[in-house]
Amino acid sequence: MLPVYRGVRRSLNVVYLSQVVKRSASGLCSSLTYDEYGDPEKVIKLKEEVIPKPEGKQVLVRMLAATVNPADINTIQGVYAIKPPLPSIPGNEGVGEVIEVGSDVEGDIKPGCRVIPRLNAWGTWRTHALADYGDLIKIPSDIDLAMAATIAVNPGTAYRMLKDFVPLSTGDVVIQNGANSAVGQAVIQIASALGLRTVNVVRDRPGIDELKQKLKDIGATVVVTEGQLRKSEEVNSLPKPSLALNCVSGRSGTEVLRQLSSNGVMVTYGGMSRQPVTVPVGSLIFTNVSLKGFWMTRWNKEHYDHPKRQQMLNDLFELVSHNKLKPPEYSYVPLENYLEAIRNAMPKDGMLSKKQILVFGNGK
Ligand code: NDP
Repeated sequence: MLPVYRGVRRSLNVVYLSQVVKRSASGLCSSLTYDEYGDPEKVIKLKEEVIPKPEGKQVLVRMLAATVNPADINTIQGVYAIKPPLPSIPGNEGVGEVIEVGSDVEGDIKPGCRVIPRLNAWGTWRTHALADYGDLIKIPSDIDLAMAATIAVNPGTAYRMLKDFVPLSTGDVVIQNGANSAVGQAVIQIASALGLRTVNVVRDRPGIDELKQKLKDIGATVVVTEGQLRKSEEVNSLPKPSLALNCVSGRSGTEVLRQLSSNGVMVTYGGMSRQPVTVPVGSLIFTNVSLKGFWMTRWNKEHYDHPKRQQMLNDLFELVSHNKLKPPEYSYVPLENYLEAIRNAMPKDGMLSKKQILVFGNGK
């Protein structure tokens, strides 16, 4: 049975599936590639090549789904901290199925199992990939496809920021901006599962009440717009947060910083406003705040096969299995329609649309 892709016409799926079946049968695979940095809509091309054969420690993975995240867009634009050598296949995260293994592959990576890449910038926007088996992490096969495709980067970031910077106990308050982002939604859900309360700051928009309710439905304690933050009675009635998570920077970052309790910590992980972080002098002198940064890529590199990494994934999958962690709203987009995914992932002036997830084959 064909899955129903949200935001994608069913007839299109039928055409797409038949194309994929034909392509696999002909021994060809597809990838999105770019050989110069620039506007993703212009520099990304769809290429075909022969499906490679795994040898030795290699594994052939058939990709099922891959996320389009802001970092992917920025990497293609050439403005991200990592500039992969060109030509390059974009995509930091995604989920695939092992379909063939080389003769020296050991352990639990076997045909039929689902895997996610251990490395960032692995290039997930392709139908097939060869990898050394040690560069893959086996994940449970019964995890919802969208959750599996989006679990590594954003929930991982949320988990680490809640665990690694400030000791938190039940009832403590965490504040964050960009609360409707994929990371923000993961923060809300993981914090709620840990018994923490969250103050969630979002940009004002038409339909703000609906957005507030959505975030409350997944566990947010309070949701306010940037303009409401300072005067909100709901916020002021809570204890001051000891941890602030900054997705946006600029003025929004300064505002959440001002909310911190004495000795509080603000962790900056995003700069969506493209503005620097400005720190009021009083926050440094009188509140003694600390500023930290977090980058999942660095953490993964430093914890490549560290038990903490598997523990984090186990904890996240546990939350998923208890329905306490769900993916953000998303649209599945067939690989051939990659331009649609890219456009929707970089709204020009407007607000965020759904998380774009490229799907390959029928996603099964
Ligand atoms: P999403 O695409 O899910 O969400 C983007 C968020 O940014 C939305 O909340 C959106 O709000 C907000 N936003 C967009 N433009 C602006 C703007 N001009 N001013 C204020 N807010 C804006 O993103 P992700 O959750 O995938 O990523 C969020 C950020 O976190 C990105 O910067 C990403 O690079 C970073 N990140 C960093 C990681 C790290 O390790 N440091 C790991 C993962 C993500 P709105 O609805 O109002 O448009």
